[in-house]
Amino acid sequence: MSKIEATPGVDGVNGKAPATPATEIEVRNPASGELVGTVAIASAEDVAEATRALRRAQPAWEAIGPSGRKKWLLKLQDWVIDNAEELADAIQSETGKPRIDARIEIAFTVDQLGYWARNAAKFLADQSASPHTPLMRVKQLTTVYQPYQVVGVITPWNFPLAMGIADVVPALAAGAAVLHKPSEVTPLTPLVLQRGWSEIGAPAVLAVVSGAGATGAALIDNVDYVQFTGSVPTGRKIGVACAERMTPYSLELGGKDPAIVLADADLDRAAYGIAYGALVNGGQLCISIERVYVEAPVYDEFVGKLVAHVKELRQGQDDRSNSFDLGPLATAAQLQIVKRHVDEAIAAGATALTGGKPTGAGTFFEPTVLVDVDHSMSCITEETFGPTIPVVKVADEAEAVRLSNDSIFGLSASVWTGNRARGQRLARALNVGAVNINDSVINLFNPTIPHGGWGQSGTGYRWGGANGLRKYCRPKAITAPSLPTQKKEMLWFPYSPSKFGFMEAAMRAMSARGRRRFGPR
Ligand code: NAD
Repeated sequence: MSKIEATPGVDGVNGKAPATPATEIEVRNPASGELVGTVAIASAEDVAEATRALRRAQPAWEAIGPSGRKKWLLKLQDWVIDNAEELADAIQSETGKPRIDARIEIAFTVDQLGYWARNAAKFLADQSASPHTPLMRVKQLTTVYQPYQVVGVITPWNFPLAMGIADVVPALAAGAAVLHKPSEVTPLTPLVLQRGWSEIGAPAVLAVVSGAGATGAALIDNVDYVQFTGSVPTGRKIGVACAERMTPYSLELGGKDPAIVLADADLDRAAYGIAYGALVNGGQLCISIERVYVEAPVYDEFVGKLVAHVKELRQGQDDRSNSFDLGPLATAAQLQIVKRHVDEAIAAGATALTGGKPTGAGTFFEPTVLVDVDHSMSCITEETFGPTIPVVKVADEAEAVRLSNDSIFGLSASVWTGNRARGQRLARALNVGAVNINDSVINLFNPTIPHGGWGQSGTGYRWGGANGLRKYCRPKAITAPSLPTQKKEMLWFPYSPSKFGFMEAAMRAMSARGRRRFGPR
């Protein structure tokens, strides 16, 4: 696979010549350790200058309205489809993930661009509100949505393209300019997309700054809204930094998603679906299934099916071969977390029925099914973000719900059952932001519903139809007379007990109940 030409000597903004001397980030393929590219780190001044440039470009972007922006977003969609191979190469080069996992990111990107481009006009349209009382019928009430000028998007390394797209596209569609700071582990793919934005000739309202935490912190110092995806510890720091500046923010953080398998479930579907939900993208997915609770009567049968399926999976360095299901972990540090969770579980009495150790060169860890685990173990209490499936036997659905809710996280969950009503009932009992019934991961492919975490899995929501765009806007309330006006309103100065008494009586008559509508008893 060819090296990505984000050449040494560029600064951290859109790959252009350096304004200030910068240190570089070396990007390596974790499957092989091969150096695949370098990017220079954007300094605080680079970030400030990039933001100033975005501020200059944003008013015209807002002014062309949703239909003008739709044209550019759909042109970018064309570009993504036409350059899918290059994008997939870039994704694979810095993550080592299977070709299909890279292609999923591109399919997701095409889908997101189409959805937000085509719906923005409807979602951002002015809304008239009905007055809450007949007294206010003399007013026309309107809510308008005006975008923040610059939205800052900070993303992690698990989906170098899709994680940015999930927020960059709705923010652009809303009329904001966007400053994206991708993970220092995977900075190359967002630069390819940014190049696409330039190549189609789109307005300069999308900039990418490369770097690690310091560059992210500089972004927070400059932008008007922060959309962050990443770990809980970093999310907490970002929340504090935003609070100090009164900058609004939304945090999409970690998870420890439970799956509940009830005795009436289709066990084949549950085993296939849970293996996919736990191991897709090597388990490096925020809504990855990280704990499985199985009702006792079907525990042995389910575990047998799950282990048999996991043993079939192919793991390796895929490049363009489309012939592996799992790749490596994205970083050596992530490999160490996964190894620690498995080692600690086994030392405390758990058993790996398949997998259980690192394998080969690079940062590969075998897909692993752990049994005899409990809630004292790190593999159950901490986010693993790797290819492990700890399985717990439970007496009944009440125990499954109790253990599922025994977590600091609350991102999403799945329930596997043959009974629709039971599935709906359990979905409502789980303390999480999303539940898939008889499926895994699929909520992430539905931007018409909200994606957000409960508990320490985050604050604020991504998507949710119109809310996915309106969150990047400041709502403004406008009142206007709907009838010809008098020189003075009744309440205006000078105060008059009789005029106020009339108003007071009218307000009470319309909102109080019983005899009190006419005064005190
Ligand atoms: P991370 O928190 O280490 O880093 C995320 C981003 O924050 C990176 O771009 C990093 O450079 C930046 N950053 C670090 N310190 C910063 C600071 N002080 N100020 C501003 N930016 C800073 O996370 P990661 O290891 O890259 O990603 C893995 C985590 O992301 C996991 O916890 C996973 O669950 C989470 N994640 C969540 C979702 C979701 O939608 N909920 C999706 C994907 C990943």
